[in-house]
Amino acid sequence: MRLGLFGGTFDPPHLGHLVAASEACDALRLDRLLWIPAAVHPLKGGRVRTPAPLRLEMAAAAVAGDPRFGVDDLELKRQGPSYTVDTLREVRDRHPAAEIFFLTGADNLADLPRWREPDEIARIATLAVVSREGETLPDDPAYPAVHVPVTRVDVSSTLVRGRAATGQTLRYLVPDAVRAVIERERLYREPSPLDRIR
Ligand code: ATP
Ligand code: MG
Repeated sequence: MRLGLFGGTFDPPHLGHLVAASEACDALRLDRLLWIPAAVHPLKGGRVRTPAPLRLEMAAAAVAGDPRFGVDDLELKRQGPSYTVDTLREVRDRHPAAEIFFLTGADNLADLPRWREPDEIARIATLAVVSREGETLPDDPAYPAVHVPVTRVDVSSTLVRGRAATGQTLRYLVPDAVRAVIERERLYREPSPLDRIR
């Protein structure tokens, strides 16, 4: 089995995530892609993060209906923020026969040598760098990575939160089921200071 992992804060998940995830599945011929919401410090960067159970619910709502996708809460179950290498070890132990692909954005790849145990990460998983048209990859990545070009969709969680804060519609930017959770919980009604400067 070819198993992909797609980590993110998913606060909230949006169309850009879905297009990238779907196209990466095709390009890498993945049998399954697990979306893994990250445990983040609730006040990291000066912005109040949506509680993990709601980010998990939104991720599950976003992937529902696509049999290739699943959500895994393994990082949320641990105490405190996770290291990628620990997540990869856990997934490998659970799926010993799987070939594991770790999806990451082009910006993250340059940081890999500073992650914990980068060599072990590269041993356990094939790095797959999702890049949007116009995005440049590091010239000399310290670790070999598969390049996965995806259709450029300029939606970000920051954009979605900003629209919610000013009462603009989120329709078609996030799946209807995600929009329903955002409305039910009245998420992102307050603009966050950090979001405003990005
Ligand atoms: P924020 O605006 O808060 O930074 P985000 O939209 O980048 O949020 P994340 O949860 O941080 O969402 O993203 C998870 C992963 O998805 C990251 O690797 C990120 O590079 C990638 N990603 C985010 N938006 C897009 C998009 N529009 N197209 C392709 N990949 C994306
Ligand atoms: Mg981001």
